[in-house]
Amino acid sequence: MNSDAYKQTYGDDPVWKKYRRNFKGQIPPRKTRKTCIRNGQISTGSPCPICRDEYLVLDHRNVKLLEQFINKHNGSVLSYSKTNICQRRHKQLLVALTKAKDYGTITFDLLIRQYDYSEWNPSNN
Ligand SMILES: [Zn+2]
Repeated sequence: MNSDAYKQTYGDDPVWKKYRRNFKGQIPPRKTRKTCIRNGQISTGSPCPICRDEYLVLDHRNVKLLEQFINKHNGSVLSYSKTNICQRRHKQLLVALTKAKDYGTITFDLLIRQYDYSEWNPSNN
């Protein structure tokens, strides 16, 4: 992700920025395709941003890639209708993100809750 080749191909944009889906008609199908790679080879004319580049690996240690799929304003995962990655990769993305949060490789915000402990503290009664 820090290599010159990456910089040359994608610049500072997320990997899905310049990708456009191919679909029949004017309205895109609700879901992206199930997978781009069947039996170890690319089975479609326009594989999704992650399948088309063999050097992009969805892993909990690959923080730079994972961060491109997170909404930076509210921390939620971008939907596949925006990023256009296929269903299999989207599933892998969710797994990698959960793992990354467990391992602490990516930072994220938690909701702040204020509890009134006196309500159920038995010593107060
Ligand atoms: Zn794909």
